[in-house]
Amino acid sequence: MLKLRVRANLKCPKHPSFDPARNGGRGGVKGGCIICQCLCDLWLAGEKLNFEVRLLVERASPPPKHWPAIARAELKRR
Ligand SMILES: [Zn+2]
Repeated sequence: MLKLRVRANLKCPKHPSFDPARNGGRGGVKGGCIICQCLCDLWLAGEKLNFEVRLLVERASPPPKHWPAIARAELKRR
C-alpha cells in the first residue's frame, strides 16, 4: 500500500504572482529566478505524479464488462 499526502501553497517572494501552470513553466521564469525554477520543477513533478496515479488506476481497474473479450485480453497483456 502506498499513501501519499502533500499539500503546500508555495510562491516566490520576488515574483508572488508567478504560476508555472499559467505562465509557461520554465519559459515564464523571470531573470533566471532560482525559486521560480524550483516551483517549475515541483509543478512538473506534480504533473508526472498525477499522470502516474491515473495510469495506475487505469491499469488496476478491471475492464468494463460490456467490452468484448478480445479487448479485455489486450488490456491484460499491457
Ligand atoms: Zn521568482
